[in-house]
Amino acid sequence: MAGRRLLILGGTTEAAALARALDGAGEWEVVTSLAGRTRAPAALPGAVRIGGFGGADGLASYLRSERIDRVVDATHPFAATMSANAAAACAEAGVPLLRIARPAWTPVPGDRWIEVADAAEAADWLAGALPAGAAVLLTLGRQEVAPFKRCPALRFVLRSIEPPVPEDLPPDCLLLSERGPFTLDGERALIARHGIRAVVAKNAGGDATAAKLAAAREAAIPVVMIRRPAPPATPAVAAVAGALDWLRA
Ligand code: NAP
Repeated sequence: MAGRRLLILGGTTEAAALARALDGAGEWEVVTSLAGRTRAPAALPGAVRIGGFGGADGLASYLRSERIDRVVDATHPFAATMSANAAAACAEAGVPLLRIARPAWTPVPGDRWIEVADAAEAADWLAGALPAGAAVLLTLGRQEVAPFKRCPALRFVLRSIEPPVPEDLPPDCLLLSERGPFTLDGERALIARHGIRAVVAKNAGGDATAAKLAAAREAAIPVVMIRRPAPPATPAVAAVAGALDWLRA
């Protein structure tokens, strides 16, 4: 007998882990939805659909036409539009929704964090604080790079899964197309190799990309940390195990 139908809003390690945990058990027929930002996403068990739904109304129509019984919003903490749309669509279609909200990172002794609202504020801080020629590691998505064009005197090393369009790049920018997880040894070596003087990061949380924070602490360099957008009011759990409990209940 076919299981009940679960939509996972994905694009994260948690979404993939949830799809894997449910694979083969037969209880849930899983569809994972990806935005389509990554050209070669990692393989996932279950069905995968790619591309936007057309806002909250489009998602509500999808939930009805695909007879979805439950939704887990496992999107990234910075995917605020998708999470808000999920809340509105599930309320409209009467489908239970749970969010997996990975805990944010918090500074520990030895950290020097400058917390900012967005990439533009990060660029302003760098322009005011660093001397000409200083190297900065940007660990951001390709869509968040353009504000750093306002720092033409700095050298950037950009690590992102997909390269940005050339028009978005600051004049001196080395591209590293890499996907986590990253190790502490690797992050130490990266900072040393490029003479990095500051790291710009989004407060993603989780283990896969946390090593850069420890490496920056060791090197006594600042981390310009972009704060998370406000979370939606959706009921949330911190990890995949909580979502599995909710699906069993
Ligand atoms: P966003 O700004 O919240 O979403 C913008 C639009 O993209 C949404 O309105 C929706 O289009 C579409 N979309 C987003 N996630 C989708 C999904 N899982 N399935 C189908 N459509 C989706 O999202 P974003 O920050 O661009 O992130 C896009 C995806 O990348 C998310 O799935 C997220 O989990 C993943 N990701 C994001 C980050 C980050 O830093 N933002 C980092 C790692 C992974 P419609 O309105 O047309 O439905």
